[in-house]
Amino acid sequence: MKGSHKILIIGGVATGPKAAARTRRLLPEAEITIIERGGLVSYGGCGLPFYLSGLVPDLRQLVSTNAGLVRDTDFFLREKNVRVLTRTLAESIDRENRRVAVVDLPTGERRWLDYDRLVLATGAEPVVPAIEGINHWRNVFTLHHPDDAVRIRELIKSKQVRQAVVIGAGLIGLEVADALAGQRIKVTVVEIKDQILPNMLDDDMAVILRREIEQRKVEVLTATRVTALDGDAEGKVRRVSTTRGELEADLVVVACGVKPNVSLAQAAGLALGRTGAIYVNEYLQTSDPVIYAGGDCVENMHLVSREMIYLPLASTANKHGRVIGDNLAGRRERFGGVLGTSALQAFDQNTGRTGLGEQEACRLGYRVVTAVTPSTDCAHYYPMHSGLMVKLVAEAGSGRLLGAQVLGEGEAIKRLDVLATAITFGGTLDTIAKLDLGYAPPFATAIDVAAHAANTARNKAAGLAEGIPVAKVSERLAGGKDVVLLDVRQPEEVEDRGIRDGRVLHIPLGELRQRMREVPRDKEIITLCELGVRGYEAVRILSGAGFPDVKFMDGGLAAWQDTPNSP
Ligand SMILES: Cc1cc2nc3c(=O)[nH]c(=O)nc-3n(C[C@H](O)[C@H](O)[C@H](O)COP(=O)(O)OP(=O)(O)OC[C@H]3O[C@@H](n4cnc5c(N)ncnc54)[C@H](O)[C@@H]3O)c2cc1C
Repeated sequence: MKGSHKILIIGGVATGPKAAARTRRLLPEAEITIIERGGLVSYGGCGLPFYLSGLVPDLRQLVSTNAGLVRDTDFFLREKNVRVLTRTLAESIDRENRRVAVVDLPTGERRWLDYDRLVLATGAEPVVPAIEGINHWRNVFTLHHPDDAVRIRELIKSKQVRQAVVIGAGLIGLEVADALAGQRIKVTVVEIKDQILPNMLDDDMAVILRREIEQRKVEVLTATRVTALDGDAEGKVRRVSTTRGELEADLVVVACGVKPNVSLAQAAGLALGRTGAIYVNEYLQTSDPVIYAGGDCVENMHLVSREMIYLPLASTANKHGRVIGDNLAGRRERFGGVLGTSALQAFDQNTGRTGLGEQEACRLGYRVVTAVTPSTDCAHYYPMHSGLMVKLVAEAGSGRLLGAQVLGEGEAIKRLDVLATAITFGGTLDTIAKLDLGYAPPFATAIDVAAHAANTARNKAAGLAEGIPVAKVSERLAGGKDVVLLDVRQPEEVEDRGIRDGRVLHIPLGELRQRMREVPRDKEIITLCELGVRGYEAVRILSGAGFPDVKFMDGGLAAWQDTPNSP
């Protein structure tokens, strides 16, 4: 491309290096320079929680290729013919003269760098809420850069940390909490919203994950605001005041989300979007067509809602980098948008979501049908099977899948990816139920849980059975409603675990036809079993026998949450 050979990239972690590498492959002659204010480039930030936990023992693993080569300035010059200027801050953009003012941070030396095309890959920075003392005491960290992880790990190694408070129960907050709890540190997670993972899970799924976390002796305080941090004479943090009382802490990790780094773009007069991140078109061009932007500093279009959203993820940042590289080489590549597919592993649970959540879909005006379906990730007789839960959110009527959430010790993310793919290609409950997925006992059940969940939702949509969420069942019990909870499990299962309440009637499914007279016809009947399947069958039996008001508990006891009525 004549006239576009001088390419300047600001930001050297995910988007920047990816854009540089792609451009280099397509434009062997281009002069490519990355400007990075930090000392490291191209590191795996997503691996930081695993370095913190000790699972990744050496930080160099996060900056190395899979062949063991360290991705430093020499590597980029030697392997990619890309010049990387670390500890160099881009201070301003002179769009008229197509140049960027940079300062070499160690020496303070300033100069201009010219560009034909500029890429903004300036990422995001952690949000630090205005809490009294938050910037004052030592041992209060965010986890964003490898330096943060090194400091936290050194503190843990020094055996000075017995109790930690994590502020924020988002993706990073929970990963950090897990990493700390695994090192025998007493951890409390404080979340201002009324559920954990508020931007990721619906409340019914969040409750299940919370139960798993609490079972591992980690305290979770939701709907709780941190009001102040206090410390000792040595300047170290010691106490965290919240709206629900005081917590002792030798370490505080602030995980309250990130905000896009837009100051350079804003000062240069580039347009910001509705979310406050940099506006880009589908070619990832900013409002100045010779300036591209991608990764955590830009907003994206949600492929289901068609709304602009801000959801900073490495998966998106890397794709952006590649698309930008293509466009720098003149290929006119589009970046369509995102489904917001995100995943995390914490407390032995694989958790993920894609597309819209139920509450979000309702807010957008969709009429939805949902299914919460527990199952095993492979044949129940296969020794290594584990449980998992799938929630589907589909549009009532068309059956179009709008979103999915998964959770469990089992292979949940495989299902998430299948469902993300289905949404991308306009999949409906009908097509998902009939997907030709791979099956052998070590990998799945003969009808995979994703298809099973689709069938449950189809049954509901077809009026074959009405489900009721566990939260509603709890409400009915707590509110003293005269309902019958018909537990159709085997006696030994009931002994093991169940809902202890006088309104529970136990009739195993195999005896239901003979003992139907014991079930009152004039009351609301809610059937339940462990996973929901037998509960559904019981609904069919009772409905067929003319019972007017029968529902099954969505997700069965596997989705049951701890309430005063639960065991
Ligand atoms: C602990 C943690 C866990 C994560 N886990 C996941 C995960 O599991 N999955 C997932 O998809 N995502 C995850 N993420 C998010 C992911 O790391 C980011 O989405 C990704 O790093 C974004 O890449 P980026 O290049 O756009 O921005 P960044 O990684 O933020 O890099 C931008 C760089 O630009 C530099 N810069 C900014 N302004 C200037 C300037 N004026 N001059 C010079 N340099 C500048 C910054 O110093 C920074 O190094 C995680 C993030 C963290 C912190």
